[in-house]
Amino acid sequence: MIIVGLTGGIGSGKTTILKCFKSYGVPVYIADDEAKALMHRSKVIRRQLIKLFGKEAYKEDQLNRTYLSSKIFGDRTLLEKMNAIVHPKVAAHFKRWLKKQKGDYVIKEAAIIFENNLESQYNYIITVIADEDLRIKRVMKRDGASEKKIKSIINNQLSDAEKMKKSDFIITNNDLEEAKKQAFEIHNNILEIIKN
Ligand code: ATP
Repeated sequence: MIIVGLTGGIGSGKTTILKCFKSYGVPVYIADDEAKALMHRSKVIRRQLIKLFGKEAYKEDQLNRTYLSSKIFGDRTLLEKMNAIVHPKVAAHFKRWLKKQKGDYVIKEAAIIFENNLESQYNYIITVIADEDLRIKRVMKRDGASEKKIKSIINNQLSDAEKMKKSDFIITNNDLEEAKKQAFEIHNNILEIIKN
């Protein structure tokens, strides 16, 4: 099975673009959503996160995301420790999911691919880009986050220019209709490559 990675910076529109591919019948997997779901339901992860972050890691039985993000933001070591707990479980879950999929290819949305040198896990990589001011506005609207906070997240991520150099396909998502056209072209391109 061909695995296509879909990545991009905060607010670029990964999840929005992923929906286009889903509408073409491509099976899609959102790594961040699955990670969150596993952090909630896996007893092993729960135990390890409580050991790492303390009881505040969960609030009224729910994952305390605000607390966790405040702890890991700017603390690389802690982030890496959390990833070491969660990532292998997501990878195993993805493997099981992949076995059940039918079709020509699947798409896995992951915010972090290049940053952790995970390119080899994908046959092709699509990067979604968008102008920074638009990304900031979108995330401010979506999450109610401050401009300063979003900018600091952007500055912590690999730049679009670097991502573009390492990608097989690029979707510019400033205008949604334009981006949808590009997504459909890429879909057909991938099908063509697979056939030949
Ligand atoms: P994150 O990395 O933060 O999870 P993302 O890259 O998955 O973000 P989305 O959640 O798809 O991005 O988009 C961010 C917000 O911007 C959403 O509220 C979405 O509806 C909106 N959005 C995405 N693309 C466009 C667009 N072309 N025009 C207007 N709004 C858009």
